[in-house]
Amino acid sequence: MAKYDVVVLGAGAAGLAAGALLAKQGKKVMVIDRDKHLGGRGMAVPFEGYRMNLGGHLLEDDGFGITKIIDYIGGKLEHGLTSQGMPIWHEGGWKAIQQLYSTDKNELKKVIKILCETDWSEFDKFDHLPLRAWLEKHTKSEGVIALFEYVAMAECLTENWWDHSASDNLYVRKMHYMHKRIAGYSCWPVGGWHGMFQQLADGLKRHGGEVMMETTVQRVIIENRRVKGVMIERGERVMATEAFNWETIECDAVISTLPVWNVLNVVRQKDLPDWYVTQIQTLAQDAYKVCWVGMYVACHEPIFTGIHPTELALWFDAPHSRLPGWAFLATGYDPSVAPPGTHLYNCGFAFQGTRSQEWYEQKFADIEKDLEAFYPKLFTKKNVIWKRRHLVANPAFGVFQKPGLVGVFRPDYTAPGVDGLYFASETFRSRGIGVDRAARAGLTCVEKYLGTRIPEFKDSWHD
Ligand SMILES: Cc1cc2nc3c(=O)[nH]c(=O)nc-3n(C[C@H](O)[C@H](O)[C@H](O)COP(=O)(O)OP(=O)(O)OC[C@H]3O[C@@H](n4cnc5c(N)ncnc54)[C@H](O)[C@@H]3O)c2cc1C
Repeated sequence: MAKYDVVVLGAGAAGLAAGALLAKQGKKVMVIDRDKHLGGRGMAVPFEGYRMNLGGHLLEDDGFGITKIIDYIGGKLEHGLTSQGMPIWHEGGWKAIQQLYSTDKNELKKVIKILCETDWSEFDKFDHLPLRAWLEKHTKSEGVIALFEYVAMAECLTENWWDHSASDNLYVRKMHYMHKRIAGYSCWPVGGWHGMFQQLADGLKRHGGEVMMETTVQRVIIENRRVKGVMIERGERVMATEAFNWETIECDAVISTLPVWNVLNVVRQKDLPDWYVTQIQTLAQDAYKVCWVGMYVACHEPIFTGIHPTELALWFDAPHSRLPGWAFLATGYDPSVAPPGTHLYNCGFAFQGTRSQEWYEQKFADIEKDLEAFYPKLFTKKNVIWKRRHLVANPAFGVFQKPGLVGVFRPDYTAPGVDGLYFASETFRSRGIGVDRAARAGLTCVEKYLGTRIPEFKDSWHD
């Protein structure tokens, strides 16, 4: 097999973005993923005329992240419908967000102005701070503070107000206020999530890059502190006992986009400084995984609160499971994800850190009762065509964005002391939300590899 400039591990948002950008820069690049679907945790999979997303529900890009990357490699990502209305379950019923949160407009404007005038590079200084600590420096308005903390909970699923990181949350607020003029912006990508990842893969191939799916990377080969290549296991095992049938792909550099939970399976600890390994292991702890039990529901009548078909409904304490969570109608954003005349609903009940099998079983039973309470006329035997439970734990949504677990506290893009080894992932150093954050991490990592900023992205903050 030919030698590559760069092998990228993972064909999720970070890996595909990094691969496509490198290919456009004229590098010989190969992206490898063990799955058969593109998109990693953001993948969308077809099922009996429906399309369900593993992750990837709403895209939070102000236009300068994944959208701009796709544009740069010759594609086009159109933003579809955006979230409208945020019903909140409060005291046994659904209330519009405006009924619960009233903010002093002048005070809010003042805080937004301070935030927008804060330089992007300043956010590193708030990595150890709770969001409230930053807000209290600039306002006494409980309404303004509650609004910021509410959006932080909705985006990052951090359970307690005193646990929201200032830097990560303010970064996204600034992005949305500056470029979209609202606190929180989220949309559905036109062409679906699979369409978005396909655009990245197509751009990569158009510029001469390659993608190898259904191939598990076993090891990054590092000799004398230099990357030499990767070992892969190809094809299916014929016997259950088969092992170590590996082959080598030579390359000068590797960009790993594996999440913190997986990365030490392929990079040996002894090849990295111990303190860097400790940073990875700290974030990879089960206790810091954003998890949920959830349900996809196919239905005849659309299941939503009645406020808006593209609403993002939230609750902080569901009546039976006692968990916080969210729900949305996928067909409200994109009717093509279900056969004509049917609808697709999705919800998640979030918790911190993985739990026992018994706990999950109990919670799945509880959330059915919660859904009956939330939608007494719609979550019924008559309306439901099928239900599919999902457990988000392995992989998790991400790592909690808490003070001391974000920004400079996360492992850096460049592996210290190893020539040619880079890490791009939303679980490593990066800012933003989910898929967009991962793509921005891919971009930053490519710029670190090139040793220069790509001029077209000089105004797009992504470090
Ligand atoms: C249930 C759920 C809901 C979510 N909802 C949203 C949302 O609404 N909006 C949003 O923006 N984000 C959402 N996210 C988060 C988002 O999906 C992730 O942040 C993003 O997809 C991460 O991208 P990545 O490229 O960094 O990593 P990943 O997508 O995890 O990509 C890593 C890739 O590495 C591959 N891999 C791992 N080990 C190996 C190996 N040894 N060899 C080869 N390949 C390997 C994996 O198969 C995977 O494809 C959600 C996530 C989940 C799980």
